[in-house]
Amino acid sequence: MDTRILLVEDEEHLARGLRFNFESEGFLVEHVERGEAALERLLSPGGEPVDLVLLDIMLPSMSGFDVLRRLRERDCDVPVLMLTARNSEQDVVRGLDMGADDYLTKPFSLPVLQARARTLLRRAPRSGEAETATAAFEVGKVTVHPASFEFERDGQRLPLTAKELGLLQMLYVRRGSAVSRGEILQEVWDLHPETKTRVVDTFVRRLRKLIEPDPANPRYLLSVRSFGYRLVEV
Ligand code: CA
Repeated sequence: MDTRILLVEDEEHLARGLRFNFESEGFLVEHVERGEAALERLLSPGGEPVDLVLLDIMLPSMSGFDVLRRLRERDCDVPVLMLTARNSEQDVVRGLDMGADDYLTKPFSLPVLQARARTLLRRAPRSGEAETATAAFEVGKVTVHPASFEFERDGQRLPLTAKELGLLQMLYVRRGSAVSRGEILQEVWDLHPETKTRVVDTFVRRLRKLIEPDPANPRYLLSVRSFGYRLVEV
């Protein structure tokens, strides 16, 4: 099946280059220049489903942040990779807190962008990583399959995003021990450990919905007060 990318970018040269490169990798690329057009494309019923959005933040009139917020408000959970113009940690954090899946700071290298995009599309053979990183593992009643970015619950296989998987793997590797928010931010999001963001807590809530029988009363993924989280050893 075709993998469809929606590119939301107002810089013509950059858009043309990205389109050319992703198309030559076999992706279908749709390009819009404005946030309004992106929302219309993503939220209107009946269109071909989009698998990944590459979303520039600095757009004319409606910003990438506005697009992202409206998508998530409408429960559109398409993976979003933000392209931020400045190396502004504030922008990155704001985007992540709004539900972006990953980010890249311009200027970025094309191979890095393509690698991140493939990871979000759950297509990547994650080469160069240790064997243990792709072996299936159990968390509570759920089996996680890192190689395919999936987890299995009640006999059903469901997708995980790259960050959901990264967080689960980190907690699993250190199961039984508390892991601090700062360590998680650094390892999973590549952010400074003291960055002020709720992204870790947001993702823990997302994970609990996936792995806990009763997400409001977690049995497996526990909070460690004013520190971080701990995955129980089972
Ligand atoms: Ca722009």
